[in-house]
Amino acid sequence: MPATEPRPLPGRLDVAVIGGGFTGLSAARTLAKRGAKVAVLEGETIGWGASSRNGGMVLTGMKLAANKLISMYGRELAQRMYAASLASIDCVEQIVCEEGIDCNFARCGHLEVACKQKHFDGYARQAEIIAGEFNHMLRVVQRNELSAEIGSSMYYGGMVDELSAGLNPARYVAGLGCAAIKAGAEIFEHTRVEKIERESSQGDARWNVTTSHGSLWAREVFVATSGYTGAAMPALRKKIVPIGSFIITTEILPEKLAWELSPRHRMIYDSKNYLYYYRLTPDRRMLFGGRAAFFPENERTVRRSAEILRRGMIEVYPQLRDAKGEYVWGGTLDFAFDIMPHAGQIDGMYYALGYAGHGVAMATYQGQKMAEFIAGDKPDNPFVGIAFPSAPLGLYNGTPWFLPFAGAWYKFLDWVS
Ligand SMILES: Cc1cc2nc3c(=O)[nH]c(=O)nc-3n(C[C@H](O)[C@H](O)[C@H](O)COP(=O)(O)OP(=O)(O)OC[C@H]3O[C@@H](n4cnc5c(N)ncnc54)[C@H](O)[C@@H]3O)c2cc1C
Repeated sequence: MPATEPRPLPGRLDVAVIGGGFTGLSAARTLAKRGAKVAVLEGETIGWGASSRNGGMVLTGMKLAANKLISMYGRELAQRMYAASLASIDCVEQIVCEEGIDCNFARCGHLEVACKQKHFDGYARQAEIIAGEFNHMLRVVQRNELSAEIGSSMYYGGMVDELSAGLNPARYVAGLGCAAIKAGAEIFEHTRVEKIERESSQGDARWNVTTSHGSLWAREVFVATSGYTGAAMPALRKKIVPIGSFIITTEILPEKLAWELSPRHRMIYDSKNYLYYYRLTPDRRMLFGGRAAFFPENERTVRRSAEILRRGMIEVYPQLRDAKGEYVWGGTLDFAFDIMPHAGQIDGMYYALGYAGHGVAMATYQGQKMAEFIAGDKPDNPFVGIAFPSAPLGLYNGTPWFLPFAGAWYKFLDWVS
């Protein structure tokens, strides 16, 4: 990644993009290719947020189940949303190929595993709905066939989607940053946006953006701050709950053991609300993640999560009892109150966020789609214009005081459902 020391900001821009993760960089690349003068303003470094810290699972579908999507949005819109989730994976693959990003992108498929018999009983119905309504095939795997997919005996069966992929997220986001620069975008790291004000006196450069390194004028502002959305964007901050997610990895495993744990190198996650997600890395470590603590990452939540995740990993894979743990880290997810991605305009600014832990592909896609929208194309994005709920009774201003209760509630749901 080229060095991007704080340097003087340009006076005027067509588009100021706030946040240098998948969403912001993908938008900046597309806008620059369309001839816009665009800069990414990133408070830390490129990919510093969730985009470099995630599990690298490039997944089909959304967080909500197919039947729930249809009941919330109706068949036609739900079909467009699901199609967008499939297109988002093609979008990542196309960027990786076009830009030659060396990030181990591979269409290895994903496997969802059932923690209870009744979860497994729901898989056949889900697969039927997805085939019938969305024209996409999933394969249900019976318990007695599961050993071909995973070296664990604790699950009641599984469901495979061959279309999903895996990649190395840190390499991908660095490559996306280089691609945005190559297309003509500028990137300003260590440049935190502190205030965004609308001014009619400046012609079409109507936004005054104040940063930790001076201010600039922009015709449009695109907010791509995800779970790190802060006080400079109060209207969005009230609609997004930041939730921690954590990952541990083992030492490099012997080839035979790695093959036994995950013979097809799938991206794997389980059927709980408080779920575990895991995969082998290309260098043969087990990467094991989960929402072990609901609060975002800090020294205490990371340390505590490492213990919880290690216990979880050994429960799934007793074969890893003696494997040394080598890394642990955490990051922040962005949950909307309806657990859906959202994109559009708020107070005149463009935004895309709300990926709820399902954002590697969707964030890249939303960045591209919103850039096309800002550049003047007709919006071709099923997530633009859907209702974007605030907290019930307005009981949230951006400080998630209810996280301990939410964590306990989801544990309770996992127990009873
Ligand atoms: C541990 C973990 C595991 C995950 N695993 C997966 C997975 O396997 N598959 C999947 O699909 N998704 C996963 N996700 C989710 C996925 O990583 C995110 O949805 C995605 O990276 C969001 O990208 P983004 O660009 O919108 O946000 P981010 O990458 O979070 O970037 C937002 C950026 O905005 C910057 N910012 C915030 N405020 C300001 C400001 N005022 N001024 C300037 N800059 C600012 C931040 O510094 C940050 O860099 C995971 C997330 C975590 C945390």
